[in-house]
Amino acid sequence: MRIIVLSAFLLSATMGIAQKGDPATYAKTITMGDLKKHLTIVAGPEMEGRETAMEGQRKAAAYLEAEYKRMGLKPGNGNSYQATFPLYQVELASSKLSVNGRPFAADKDYAASVSMIANGTNTYSEVVFVGYGMSDSSRNDYANLDVKGKIVLVLEGTPGSTGPVSPRGAGSLFGKMTTARTKGAAGVLVVSKSFPRTTPSQTKGGMSLTKPTTEPAAGITISEEVATGLLGRTSKMTIDQMAQLNKGVYRSELKITADKKVNELESSNVIAVLPGTDKADEYVFITSHYDHEGIINGEIYYGADDDGSGTVSVVEIAEAFVAAKKKGDGPRRTMVFMNVSGEEKGLLGSRYYSEHPIFPLEKTSVDLNIDMVGRIDPTYKGDSMNYVYVIGDDKLSSDLTPITNEVNSKYINMELDRRFNDPKDVNRFYYRSDHYNFANKGVPVIFYFNGTHRDYHRPTDTVDKINFDVMEKRARLIYHTAWVIANKDTMLKRDMPLNMPPR
Ligand SMILES: [Zn+2]
Repeated sequence: MRIIVLSAFLLSATMGIAQKGDPATYAKTITMGDLKKHLTIVAGPEMEGRETAMEGQRKAAAYLEAEYKRMGLKPGNGNSYQATFPLYQVELASSKLSVNGRPFAADKDYAASVSMIANGTNTYSEVVFVGYGMSDSSRNDYANLDVKGKIVLVLEGTPGSTGPVSPRGAGSLFGKMTTARTKGAAGVLVVSKSFPRTTPSQTKGGMSLTKPTTEPAAGITISEEVATGLLGRTSKMTIDQMAQLNKGVYRSELKITADKKVNELESSNVIAVLPGTDKADEYVFITSHYDHEGIINGEIYYGADDDGSGTVSVVEIAEAFVAAKKKGDGPRRTMVFMNVSGEEKGLLGSRYYSEHPIFPLEKTSVDLNIDMVGRIDPTYKGDSMNYVYVIGDDKLSSDLTPITNEVNSKYINMELDRRFNDPKDVNRFYYRSDHYNFANKGVPVIFYFNGTHRDYHRPTDTVDKINFDVMEKRARLIYHTAWVIANKDTMLKRDMPLNMPPR
């Protein structure tokens, strides 16, 4: 008995915690059952995959807002639980392509994705045919050809194999565009056997926080039919037959029209606050992203692990702190529970917050970010039902690692795996979730993560595959870490460099 009392005293002395009730009492409110209840809704079909700036995302935000309100948390953005931010998205409203006055139909004879076609009408009187358009040490299809400012016509695939190619390989549209561009071409037409298209071309571009200005060169895939016209033939040629033709200039009138517009959208971060006691003007953030990929080709991407798991963990951790406050054990610092959107579009919600902070970043002690904590990494070698990847605790503050280790050995006893702190990690996970935008502004962060798995960013990332027992342990570990940081005498030291190149 005495030893336990003494060690508890020593622990609180080393961490500088004022005497409070036992945080483990409130950790018990974070349960598998509650996590499952919330996740079944957040990652359910009603939420339609929660794509940023879409109806499903707004439904998820409304659900989170209602939960925080029910618990009695305060709105984090003035009178509102949501902080909206503007987004821009380029859309290809329509396109046209004709050869010598003969019009062709989109997706039947040509495919133009929004990011690969230039806006407006462009007319060309010739194309430069470069065969397979390869240019490397063994073969140069561009020899003696000047393609500067010209439209290049290339055949899909590589000599001897015109079948499907890897999406980014040398024989891909991307690879051929890159080669043509380095030669100075204004645009590329890739002749493909894959027409008519079975899936429509992407008409919506990526989202951004600022109005897009750059106009990319045209890179369009065309059918053998269109290519036949460009090469001045009347009876349809196959790619194999075209490969026999001379390389060089072919005169034909090619007209390409694209009507692109910029859509102004809006999304939101959900922010709820539990005011602190004697250090209320200092902040502890717990974050997750609640957006996911939405519906792609008619399939819902549920995002149960990514990042439904982190989102409902934030809700449960908030509830534990509320329970503590009700018993007079409220945190000294103000707790900010923030579920951001726009993560899958490029960490946009957290970037917007970090550039327009509501609470001063220099008074923000930490961001504990939770992104994917409900599954098991199939490559994990240790106790797969009892681990979490801890990322970023070796940067910015030397307080992060000892606090994590102490609360873990006292309350949880998980395997804390820090392999992704290696700056040479090829996955670059440190850059790939929302904590990065806090770290980039100097706020110490920890990123909690289970690793990837076969359902990662696939429609099969569903609730039935979540391991709620290990998820509960991970959420409790984060809660205990937050508890210590929220109740310490001082904010976390900022005594270590970020020491990472910019994202
Ligand atoms: Zn994701």
